[in-house]
Amino acid sequence: MRLDLATWQEVETYLQTSGGIIVPTGSTEQHGPMGLIGTDAICAEKVAEGAAERAGAMVAPTLAYTPAPFNMAFPGTMSLSEPVFEALVAELVEGLLSHGFDCIYFLNGHGANLAPLARVADRFAGARIRIRSWWEAEAVDTLRKTYYGDWEGMHATPSEVAITQATHRVVPPGLAETPPRKISRDFIERHSGDRHGPPKQHREQFPDGRVGSHSALATPQHGGALLKAAEAAVAEDYLDLLAGAPQRG
Ligand SMILES: [Zn+2]
Repeated sequence: MRLDLATWQEVETYLQTSGGIIVPTGSTEQHGPMGLIGTDAICAEKVAEGAAERAGAMVAPTLAYTPAPFNMAFPGTMSLSEPVFEALVAELVEGLLSHGFDCIYFLNGHGANLAPLARVADRFAGARIRIRSWWEAEAVDTLRKTYYGDWEGMHATPSEVAITQATHRVVPPGLAETPPRKISRDFIERHSGDRHGPPKQHREQFPDGRVGSHSALATPQHGGALLKAAEAAVAEDYLDLLAGAPQRG
């Protein structure tokens, strides 16, 4: 059930039997020549909605404005500073807790959200808060490796592009037909959580916006399979978070 499409009475009834909520977190930033600006938000939202349906969970509106300062040299990117995002999430968590949502599951689609989300979870150490990115589960990771191997890369990944192709639209590859510059595993590790350089330098380094990801390998069929695998994994993990909470109703 989507929170934004529920009435307050429906939410009150839901809270009598469950204190769980899934909060999708994405971004609004360039995703290469064939990736939609909203890719991260779309992926997190669609996986969250599918998982919620399977697990009978409530889904909060997607947090699509998040930190992406390194992509600000590409038009269309909208970025919040980390302190602003962290403060925003902290206030939302406080509000959810006050209503009785005591199991908060952040389903993430953007690396740079992870550090601020973890700091918020630390602040509310007594609450049940779990943070997972949709690509983390083993079944999903296996699919990504099978489909794309090293060409999954870091940004504008074929797997995230595939999901948006399955749910929204396919943009012709254009520039992205040719593979991007390959990046090393070491580079990926050193830049995990989107620890990239300043905007101008980042665009000079990755002129078309792809960071080692061969987006053109994406297909809507892959996207459908990735979505299904991620939905099932997140539903299971969400129910596991809930299982530790005191019974209601
Ligand atoms: Zn992304």
